[in-house]
Amino acid sequence: MNLRYGSLRSCISCGLKVHKDQLLRLVSNAPGEVKLDRTGKHPGRGAYLCNKGECWESGLKKNRLERTLRVNISTVNKNMILQEIAASV
Ligand SMILES: [Zn+2]
Repeated sequence: MNLRYGSLRSCISCGLKVHKDQLLRLVSNAPGEVKLDRTGKHPGRGAYLCNKGECWESGLKKNRLERTLRVNISTVNKNMILQEIAASV
């Protein structure tokens, strides 16, 4: 069994397929609330993005994140996410 292959995830922004450890996970754990999941283990609907500012910006601006997580993300929440990403990239 190939464990690494089983752990591949796609970036919702650029579509790149890489091991999930190399991606950042966002999780929607409450209606309309999305946060960065640093452990990768939070329950809830998750979305993966590259560790790159441009993927985050286009993912948020084009509403890909909202479609993937099936939530509406407020501007405040989006800015919060972008700030967290900026701090962790
Ligand atoms: Zn990407």
